[in-house]
Amino acid sequence: MRLILLGPPGAGKGTQAERLVKEHGIPQLSTGDMLRAAVAAGTPVGLQAKAVMESGGLVSDAIVVGIIADRIEEPDAAKGFILDGFPRTVAQAEALADMLAAKGLKLDIVIDLVVDEAKLADRIIKRAADAKAAGQPVRKDDDPEVFKTRLAAYHRDTAAVRPHYAAKGMVQSVDGMQPIAQVAEAIDRILERAKA
Ligand code: AMP
Repeated sequence: MRLILLGPPGAGKGTQAERLVKEHGIPQLSTGDMLRAAVAAGTPVGLQAKAVMESGGLVSDAIVVGIIADRIEEPDAAKGFILDGFPRTVAQAEALADMLAAKGLKLDIVIDLVVDEAKLADRIIKRAADAKAAGQPVRKDDDPEVFKTRLAAYHRDTAAVRPHYAAKGMVQSVDGMQPIAQVAEAIDRILERAKA
């Protein structure tokens, strides 16, 4: 199963992807996590990405497409993967289609987590507070001001990804404002239908 989780920042993509990893045994490919790891390790990609990530902007298509192209070559991605935070532009979606086609593969489904954007800033504030309380590092971009820039980037570049896949009949929407367990159930029902 090769699927994409779509939705604005704070929609719950990472939470659902982590659960799917455990229950379906396919890896989560989160460009945000991979970029944060590159920043922490001080790699050339990390050095290029750090400032733009901290400001809430988007890292260049060339960088993230390169990261994903390398990652899907890893053996654990052979049986499928969950893309979380990628593609974030139509150009990334097209690059993904080309890389999969070159391997004779295609995407199975795109799940769009639909959320009330007015409530997202509160979720981000809570995520930062929870991380702090758990003694975990708080993401620099989980800050109300930076969040506004992230949401603006979503509207400017990423909102067009949904219609791109909808035109191919690949999108299934899930109400992402439900409790986590219910979002999970809705996603599982969609995946069951997709497998049938
Ligand atoms: P995320 O963890 O998905 O919210 O990503 C955190 C940050 O990493 C984003 O705000 C962007 O700066 C960068 N990023 C992650 N994925 C992408 C992507 N596919 N394209 C461009 N920038 C990305």
